[in-house]
Amino acid sequence: MTKELRCDDVFSGCAYVSVGSDIRALMAEYMVHVRDVHRVTSPTPELRIQAMVAVRERQAHMD
Ligand SMILES: [Zn+2]
Repeated sequence: MTKELRCDDVFSGCAYVSVGSDIRALMAEYMVHVRDVHRVTSPTPELRIQAMVAVRERQAHMD
């Protein structure tokens, strides 16, 4: 199952989307983005929770 994390859900207006099947890898990748793009060098627990909540199942458009 593929999951996605839309940065827009955490940092409104950001178009970045992290996609992956492994949530830990996805979060690690997202934290790199947060550090590099949003200049957050030490993510707060609140930010991590927001990011976790933002992770969704990727909608496969098949029928
Ligand atoms: Zn972003």
